[in-house]
Amino acid sequence: MQVPFLDLKRQYQSIKEEIDQVVREVVESGRYIGGEKVENFEKDIAHYVGVKHAIGVSSGTDALLASLMAVGVNQGDEVITSPFTFIATAEVVSFLGAKPVFVDIDEETFNINPDLIEKKINSKTKAIIPVHLFGQMAEMDSIMEIAGKYGLKVIEDAAQSIGASYKGRAACSIGDAGCLSFFPSKNLGAFGDGGMVCTNDDTIADTVRQVKEHGSASRYHHTRIGFNGRLDAIQAAVLDVKLRHLDGWTKKRIENSEYYNNNLKELLRVPIKKVDGIHVYNQYSVLSDRRDELTKYLNSRGIPTAIYYPIPLHLQPSFSNLGNGEGDYPVAEKISKKVFSLPIFPELYPEEKEYIIETIREFFK
Ligand SMILES: *Cc1c(COP(=O)(O)O)cnc(C)c1O
Repeated sequence: MQVPFLDLKRQYQSIKEEIDQVVREVVESGRYIGGEKVENFEKDIAHYVGVKHAIGVSSGTDALLASLMAVGVNQGDEVITSPFTFIATAEVVSFLGAKPVFVDIDEETFNINPDLIEKKINSKTKAIIPVHLFGQMAEMDSIMEIAGKYGLKVIEDAAQSIGASYKGRAACSIGDAGCLSFFPSKNLGAFGDGGMVCTNDDTIADTVRQVKEHGSASRYHHTRIGFNGRLDAIQAAVLDVKLRHLDGWTKKRIENSEYYNNNLKELLRVPIKKVDGIHVYNQYSVLSDRRDELTKYLNSRGIPTAIYYPIPLHLQPSFSNLGNGEGDYPVAEKISKKVFSLPIFPELYPEEKEYIIETIREFFK
């Protein structure tokens, strides 16, 4: 049997009529950038997340970039984040001439360890970017408390966690701003790139609207340096249709994770749901001391796996200028050697899930 890691065609087939309808509407409207579809989707996301403002942007990366600009991160500032995340989280900090300062992760959740944050704070520290990795939110109470104590801004990287919650509060609704990605493999995926900034702060919202529009509040009047970071109408239309199905898909991800947990907990270290709230399983990431051997075995039997992430950010050549080295973030380093992800997408067939379990059991026999 050949199992896909993620099959977006299955999802499209299940909602084809609705999608085709709105795509046709956009194509026939002649309105391809901005307009009603984008505005409606922004309203629907704001309502879904429970925030005052949601601003569509061209990617999750641009959501992070615009948010950092909006809270005033500048040349020479320091921004605290996790070394165990996708490069974009820290890349945007460097892009603005500021410095990413890493804090090691919690061994159980893979999210930033709040106990280690305070000793990295100094007079240059401007913000913290907690990443809600794989679908589970970071320890937001502790993070917000530290941020409050030192007057720091908090930008949630919720690229993998739309629909997740922490003690009843939604991802993107707790920090000063929250960033979503609609990259196709995220839980709410576009037919291309897309992203969103969520915030309750009127000034942050205004600034994000301006910077993603070449620094202008009205056309051809540029008050500051910005960039082209808009969300396309066609993506907004597709995403708005998909948003109606998101909670159903999340439920299936959770069911898949429970099925895997029950069948694999004796063989692998299955994900630990530590936070009181909803884990949305953008990835089902497990640990094994025999990772490389096991993934090779699975791959050769038609079961694809992925490694998020094989190299922590502090060891990436693009961040060599930060002066970090091997051993600086031991937990992130250890996890990166043992972690791998199994297919978890909502449309997995029961026989595919059974085959995955059987094959893993066979390996450990
Ligand atoms: C996907 C992702 C991003 C970037 O989103 P894009 O839409 O691909 O630009 C940022 N942070 C994390 C944690 C991600 O998973």
